[in-house]
Parts: sequence; structure tokens; C-alpha cells
Amino acid sequence: METKKLFINGEWVEGSSVKANINPSNIQDTIGMYSEGDASHVELAVKAAKTAFPGWAYSTPQQRFNALDFIGSEILARQDELGRLLAREEGKTLPEAVGEVNRAGNIFKFFAGEALRNSGDYIPSVRPNVIVDTVREPIGVVGLIVPWNFPIAIPAWKIAPALAFGNCVVFKPAELVPGSAWALSEIISRSGLPKGVFNMVKGSGTVVGNALVNHPDVAGISFTGSVEVGRTIAAKCVQRMAKIQLEMGGKNPLVILDDADLDVAVNAAIQGSYYSTGQRCTASSRLIVTEGIHDKFVQAMIERMKKLKIDDALTSGTDIGPVVDASQLAKNLEYVDIGKKEGSKLVFGGERLKREKDGFYFGPALFTETNNAMQINRDEIFGPVATVIRAKNYDEALTMANDTPFGLTSGICTQSLKFANHFKQHAQAGMIMINLPTAGIDYHVPFGGRKGSSYGSREQGSYAKEFYTTVKTTYTMA
Ligand code: NAD
Repeated sequence: METKKLFINGEWVEGSSVKANINPSNIQDTIGMYSEGDASHVELAVKAAKTAFPGWAYSTPQQRFNALDFIGSEILARQDELGRLLAREEGKTLPEAVGEVNRAGNIFKFFAGEALRNSGDYIPSVRPNVIVDTVREPIGVVGLIVPWNFPIAIPAWKIAPALAFGNCVVFKPAELVPGSAWALSEIISRSGLPKGVFNMVKGSGTVVGNALVNHPDVAGISFTGSVEVGRTIAAKCVQRMAKIQLEMGGKNPLVILDDADLDVAVNAAIQGSYYSTGQRCTASSRLIVTEGIHDKFVQAMIERMKKLKIDDALTSGTDIGPVVDASQLAKNLEYVDIGKKEGSKLVFGGERLKREKDGFYFGPALFTETNNAMQINRDEIFGPVATVIRAKNYDEALTMANDTPFGLTSGICTQSLKFANHFKQHAQAGMIMINLPTAGIDYHVPFGGRKGSSYGSREQGSYAKEFYTTVKTTYTMA
């Protein structure tokens, strides 16, 4: 099997070791062999990016548009093939994976347009005969560090704006899903970018990620991943005054009020809690349900969960694929034990499943009789494990929804405009969902959270420019 290499300064380069990419639906299936780099590769990539920066920073918007539009068009044209690769390496179902690839293609198209829309301001001065204008300039070399759960969409929503606004990129993919990252890098390598503008160095977080974070020539780090890693990155970046943007975990609540449409609520809860195997930072993990609908809701959830098909991500009709790897599976099982020990009731799932092929299959779990102080309601599990928390009324539900160290998404199911509007104003999260699952976002609007979920400016949509540009104000005597 040919080893897929790193991409540095316009060339495909050997790494210092090789790692297999394993299919979590079938661990006998090796998808490919991928090079891993070390600090010396980061050094080469940053040097190449730094050398390329002056040219790319002053490239025309048309040149940037052309490259990004090319990348987006090819991703869209190959969405079925790339979706298959993504489902095979990450374990989300084929339709979910194709949807993610489609999102990635559209993100490149959107940021192709943003390159043309990078306008500044013209502001009358308070002094006579003086004019003031502002422009946005790129920040320099950016290090982009991503997690495994969206192997092409998250790289897309960092790489596309970085390039659109004239930055040079060193991209560090996640260890577990190199296939999609490599395929994306291969497309980018043919998009007409000058050498050194885009570089990809796969490798471990503690070696490659760390070298990027500490490199004095990296002007900014955009990171998506866990809170623990995000905190250490923030401390190091602040120390050397590099710009940072962190998107981290969630423990997202979905409030279900007595007046909710039961079908809408159950659909939102099943989709939000269990689809993509619950491995989404926006997943609903706390279902906060008011007294009057509680028992009906739990019963309807169990009925729906009985019908979910958990199987190979590539098999037609699969609703939920496997967990990404052995350690995530062990973590889910450990939290099921914790939940039981804390006195909550496991009413469905929560066990390892056997399927025709040997993979990391786990039965989506539902706990009832939980309270918001329990560890299963405080920690991000990052798997298909949801809890039901009983609330007396809307006020108590809102208080519990906000009582969490996280603040990414927050949802409510209700038919009352009064409660929906109140929730919209008082839920402490970056994204609010009304009668919709907490997961599932558009590609052209701002994305991000509050409290422990996010740090720094928003990603995506027109807000992405806040991180990838710096403002220059010019005064001119007329
Ligand atoms: P992780 O924090 O373990 O790893 C994320 C990335 O950081 C990987 O590329 C990893 O190699 C790298 N890394 C690890 N240690 C590093 C270090 N010391 N220095 C520099 N880089 C380092 O997270 P994960 O397990 O890949 O992903 C799951 C987490 O990601 C969950 O907490 C989830 O909520 C979060 N996530 C957040 C969002 C969001 O936008 N808010 C989206 C998806 C996932």
C-alpha cells in the first residue's frame, strides 16, 4: 500500500513515521497508510509559509477567488466518493458523510466570494481636511489544528477563510482521520496556489501540534478540539502573544416543554443526541423535560430508539454508525457505569454491540431520573449518551439549561411564542435552536459558543474575518 505523504512547500514529502488509517465499522479494513511528521516538518512548513506570505498577502482577490472556487467545485463534484472515504474512516453514516463533504464544498465557494467582499470603511475625520480609512490585512502564517469528528468540514471552515484573506496555512489534521485531510490537501495542491501558501503536516498533537503552537513565526492558531487541550494552547499562545481562536466542547441542553409537539421534540432529541453517533460538539446530551410531558416523552423516545439501526457506516439503511475508536468506546461504557453508580436509571442501550464485522459498535443510551449535578450531566461524554432531567416548569428548565460550564448550543421545543422568545434572549449559548435539533448548522453564518465552549472570535460566515485579518487605519491629509 502506497504511503500518503505530507505536503510542504508545494511538494509531497516523507514524514518520520507511518500510521495506518483503520475503519471503525470493520477493524480488519485498513483504508491506507499515512505519513506522520515531527517538529522538523513543522519547521520546514512554517518557513515555506513565511516565505510565501508577502506574495500571497498582496495577491489579487481574483486570484484567491479562483483557487477557492476551484477547490469548492472539485469537492462538490466528488462528494459521493469523498463522502464514502469519510464514512469509512470516521464511522458516520454515508448520507451524513456526503452531507459533510457537500458542506465543505459550499464553504470554499462561500469564502471564494468573501475574498471579493473584503471591503474596508471610509470615515470622515474630526479634523478638517483629513480622511480616515480602514482596511483588513492578513495576519500572516496561521496554524490550523482540528479534531477527528468532522474530518473535512472543520478543515474547510478554517483553511478557506485563512486563504481568502491572504494568510498562509500550516494545517495539522487529526490523527484518526487522515484520509479526508489528505484528499482535501491533494485538491488544494492543484488549485493554483503559489508554493508554500498551503502546507499540511499530519502528526501527533503533542509533537506536531505543539511545535506549531510554540513557533514564533506562527501569527495565529485556530484550534477545534477538547477543552483540556484548548486551555494549554491558549496559555502558550498568550505567552508569545499569538492570536488564538478556540472552539471546544459542549454539554448542550434541549428543553422540552409541556406544550411541545411530541413528534417534533422526539425527532429533535433523537437527531441531536444520537446521529453522527453523538460525536458532535453540538449534540444534545441533556434533555430537560417538564413534568406534564415527561413520561410521554420518555416512552416515545424508547419506541424510536428500538427502531434505530446501528451498523456499518457504509451499509444502506444504517441510522447510526460505530464509535470512532476503542478509547472512545471505552469512555462511553465508563460513563454508562458512572451514570448507574450515581443512581440514574438506564432505560435504553448503553452496551457494546456485536455486528457481522468487528467494529466499535455501541447502543445509543438513554438515562432517566438524573439531576443536573450528576457527573453524566456535567462532563462532555462525546458519544451517543443522553440523559433526561425532570423540570417543574419553564423557569426551572431554563436555569438548569444554563447551569453548565459550557455554552455552545441550547435548544427548546415549545409551541409558545412567549417561551421561545424568552429562551432566545436568556439561554446562555452561542447558538439557539427552536423546535430544531441542537446540532445541524448552516455553512454561511457565524458559529461558536460561550463560557468553556469557545474563546476568541467566531468562525464561519462573514464573522470569520475577525480572526484571519487585522485592521489597519490610515489618516490622510487631503
Ligand atoms: P483533542 O483536543 O484531543 O484534539 C484536537 C486536535 O488537537 C488534534 O488534532 C490533536 O492532535 C491536537 N492536539 C492534541 N494535543 C495537542 C497539543 N498539546 N498541542 C497542540 N495540538 C494538540 O480533541 P478530539 O478528541 O480530536 O476532538 C473531540 C473534541 O473536539 C470534543 O471536545 C468536541 O466537543 C470538540 N469539538 C468542538 C467543536 C466546536 O466547534 N466547538 C467541533 C468539533 C469538535
